Amino acid sequence: MLALVFDGDARMQDIPIPDRQPGEALIRVLSAGICNTDIEILRGYMEFNGIPGHEFVGIVEESDNKDLRGKRVVGEINCPCGRCRLCRLEMPHHCRERSVLGIHNRNGAFAEYLTLPDANLLVVPGSIPDDVAVFTEPTAAACRIPEQITISPEDRIIVLGDGKLGLLVAQVLWLHSKHLVCVGKHPEKAEILQKLRIATAHCGEPIEGGADIVVDATGSRDGLGCALQLVRPEGTVVLKTIVADTAALDLTVPVIDEVTILGSRCGPFRPALEALILGNVEVRPMITETFPLSEAPHALKRAADPDVLKVVLHM
Ligand SMILES: [Zn+2]
Ligand SMILES: [Zn+2]
Repeated sequence: MLALVFDGDARMQDIPIPDRQPGEALIRVLSAGICNTDIEILRGYMEFNGIPGHEFVGIVEESDNKDLRGKRVVGEINCPCGRCRLCRLEMPHHCRERSVLGIHNRNGAFAEYLTLPDANLLVVPGSIPDDVAVFTEPTAAACRIPEQITISPEDRIIVLGDGKLGLLVAQVLWLHSKHLVCVGKHPEKAEILQKLRIATAHCGEPIEGGADIVVDATGSRDGLGCALQLVRPEGTVVLKTIVADTAALDLTVPVIDEVTILGSRCGPFRPALEALILGNVEVRPMITETFPLSEAPHALKRAADPDVLKVVLHM
């Protein structure tokens, strides 16, 4: 099969179709989305070698579960051991033994086929196109926030960042409170939210602080500092950005103001898929470009361009 293989360098290779392990399904990939994590992986993040890609929709070609065979599915990316303490505490996504599709110890979706445990798969109804279903994983990451904190309709929310994740977080949280503004740099990205009646602001203009919840989805090292300036005492800052360098950050304010700083990563697939089915989250305007799998190295370069939102590969 054709696959994009990364071993310090990313190139197309013809490799054998993977063998599925017991309890796993063999899936023929239809579409795969390129995410910032993939771009970071090509820069050395997680020291991953193999096939990247974790946002996909595909058809189950082989499985011991007859309810899955031939079905179009999306898949949860964390593959926990099921035996350790964290797994028994029902935190499988934190299992230290886990493999993660296209990120850690498991080949991913930038290929014609992949394998995942049957238990990770969710059947996609025929009503949603492949290029919408492929957004289930990043939408789930946005849906993680209301799973972690209670959001009341009165809460004032600021979302920092108008990248792919920022736009999804803004849309998901807006379903919980309309007092939300998304702060970004790019007028054309803001327009996607404005069409949905979601308020936006440019990061150059003064923003009223004192918010109950501030989400940092900037992907930049300045995001957390900025969020801490905008949150009210005893408010919550949700971190969606993996900040490599916080050395210069003054953490006096969150101590004095008793701010909760909450890390947030992968989320639940079912509500994410439901939001896409119901059209509560609109993702189509976020697809900037599509490429065939054979052009994956070029597609990855395009996805790294700050003006480009989602790039989708078609197998
Ligand atoms: Zn991703
Ligand atoms: Zn485990």
